[in-house]
Amino acid sequence: MNANIEIARRGIMLIVSSPSGAGKTTLTRNLLDKEENVSLSISVTTRARRTSEIDGIHYKFLSRRQFELMRDGGELLEWAEVHGNFYGTPREPVETALAEGRDVLFDIDWQGTQQLYNSMRQDVVSVFVLPPTAEELKLRLERRAEDTQEIIARRLKNAAEEIPHWEEYDYVLVNRDLEKSFIRLRGILTAERLKRVRKEDIQDFVDHLLSDLKTLTP
Ligand code: 5GP
Repeated sequence: MNANIEIARRGIMLIVSSPSGAGKTTLTRNLLDKEENVSLSISVTTRARRTSEIDGIHYKFLSRRQFELMRDGGELLEWAEVHGNFYGTPREPVETALAEGRDVLFDIDWQGTQQLYNSMRQDVVSVFVLPPTAEELKLRLERRAEDTQEIIARRLKNAAEEIPHWEEYDYVLVNRDLEKSFIRLRGILTAERLKRVRKEDIQDFVDHLLSDLKTLTP
């Protein structure tokens, strides 16, 4: 038997949530750079595009009407209203990736996480990222310099509503140091990939192993 055989498994839905400014985007971008078998779920949103964002890469930017058509046509796995805008996860790319054993990363909020727990709990691994201090969160939002003072104030207010949802997540990271947090996030993914319940054909593998062992014993 081939000793290097890859044991098939279904893909993982790795959700990373945090209040805006906790460092989630940098962490998830690093994960996508370093891990081969992970792709980002590109959400649709009715929010205005930031200057640094590219349509189809960071989000797919839709009108309210286009969003409602997708939502009402059952094309979204989950959706939520965040900061006064609609956000949602297109269903088809996720279902295809999972069936092919590819992992999918989600940058979605606690409302979306709850919906995915309800519909796809077996596939979901969720991580909540907390900022080290309130001051640091404010600084990071200001440093980003892409949002107006009014939007920053709204995001800080929302942070106070989002943070209590940390309890609903499988894992929690306090992001004091980006490098350390990244190692931890990657560790979570590695361990989850190895979980026995995810290995669909481990039984075949073990059967082969045992029959091979028999041939080696007199
Ligand atoms: P931002 O406008 O800063 O890109 O995102 C605002 C919030 O919306 C973030 O907490 C982000 O995780 C969340 N979000 C982005 N896409 C989705 C989505 O498809 N579904 C849900 N439920 N939340 C999303």
